[in-house]
Amino acid sequence: MGEKLKQFRELCGEIHDLKIAAAVLHWDQQVNMPPGGAPARAQQVATLNQLGHGMLISEKFGAALEAAGEEVASLDPDSDDARMVKRTLRDYKIAVKVPNEWVREFGLTTTLAFQNWHEARAASSFKDFAEMLEKIVNLRRQYSEFFAPYDHVYDPQLDFFEPGMKTAEVKAVFEKLRPQQVALVHDIVERGKPVDDAILHQKFSEKKQWDFGEEVVAKIGYDFERGRQDKAAHPFTISFHPHDVRITTRVNPQFLPTAFFGTMHEAGHAMYEQGVDVSLARTALAEGTSYGVHESQSRLFENLIGRSKPFWKAYYPKLQKAFSKQIGSVSLDDFYRAINKVEPSYIRVEADEATYNLHIMLRFDLETALIKGDLAVVDLPDAWNQKIEEYLGLEPPDDANGVLQDVHWSGGYLGYFPTYSLGNLMASQLWEKIEEDMPDIDAQIEKKKFGDLLAWLRENVHRHGAKFYPQELLKRVTGSELDPEPYMRYLRRKYSEIYAL
Ligand code: ZN
Repeated sequence: MGEKLKQFRELCGEIHDLKIAAAVLHWDQQVNMPPGGAPARAQQVATLNQLGHGMLISEKFGAALEAAGEEVASLDPDSDDARMVKRTLRDYKIAVKVPNEWVREFGLTTTLAFQNWHEARAASSFKDFAEMLEKIVNLRRQYSEFFAPYDHVYDPQLDFFEPGMKTAEVKAVFEKLRPQQVALVHDIVERGKPVDDAILHQKFSEKKQWDFGEEVVAKIGYDFERGRQDKAAHPFTISFHPHDVRITTRVNPQFLPTAFFGTMHEAGHAMYEQGVDVSLARTALAEGTSYGVHESQSRLFENLIGRSKPFWKAYYPKLQKAFSKQIGSVSLDDFYRAINKVEPSYIRVEADEATYNLHIMLRFDLETALIKGDLAVVDLPDAWNQKIEEYLGLEPPDDANGVLQDVHWSGGYLGYFPTYSLGNLMASQLWEKIEEDMPDIDAQIEKKKFGDLLAWLRENVHRHGAKFYPQELLKRVTGSELDPEPYMRYLRRKYSEIYAL
């Protein structure tokens, strides 16, 4: 490695260290910190972020980036170093285009908005939140203007979470997906053989739930020598280095799926981060490449594996032993059907695999309309209710269970929601490729053998970190673009059996 590249990497490393220090403080806040520490913690995190941002947009860094760019110009464009410079350039361009005043204003607004949203939701009154949301939408629109010209005003929002992805592409995919999902859900509701999930709503010891989840994820490949699990109100995964990736989970003593599938989900995220090649540590490549690809990994373990028949053939006896009073006499089939019950509901986070994407498409439609100015904030609740009726055949009882249910908009996260669905679709695309490369994957899972699967994911997805852009990675691994068909094939196969369609 040349001298200039070395110097550049060191600067990147320092910026990265500050980011990670802020992340540790964030983890501590969510897991350990007493509530009284919140105001001081906000300052500590803001200072670290400011320092890091200042370093990133400094002339010194700009010059080092340029020099490194010249040095890697002669390298293979797919080499780690060339890619590292490319991805850093992207972060740099975003950072220098957004003025400091906007960052400050946005930070202040969203801090207040969170509190405001919380109260409005408790009162189930959208009009209490409308003014603040209006401010946020305006700020986000300003943000888009920093990146003009664009094809669609929503593009810069989306690109922040899913690098390289365009609004038009998401729209095209969703337009293919939506009618098929609506038809499937309609079929299930109208003529499916009913599924009863009452067995899951019983009292289950919290400790036993916790222990079962930890035992399973350790077996599938989450390395506790380089990780740990703690309790948090809103589960998340956080990586400080591939050798220190932590997960959090919440336990519901009255509903079995919450903790287990939450742990599987977060472990999916965490294995991705644990699998990033250590040589990429302290660079812009030292993390998963996008929110969507990350979600593909979490959903793959939570749903494609965690809610599959082969998996429960392997683990149901153990679960029954832990909860013999509750499910000791329940058959594997009944249990499998219960954890896969489809039920249109108002609430996104409780949605099953068949209805989940419809919740996302609704939000995507509304977000793009808001940011484009086609929909006024005051008209949002009506637009929401109309869409929920159209997509899911439901009428939300109130704002709290409708337009106010998610935290994202109060945090200014427009452009985030689509990544959940992109993750679902990519997970199925990857899974079809896995089945092609490992025809006996189901048999392996039934024998609790996860080594080959993890090795495949490590080789094809994890080790690259953020080296390839999401759609580039998908194409390299599966040979195809983002495609809703594998997901629909998966859903149809699964639910035709469960609901006898
Ligand atoms: Zn997730």
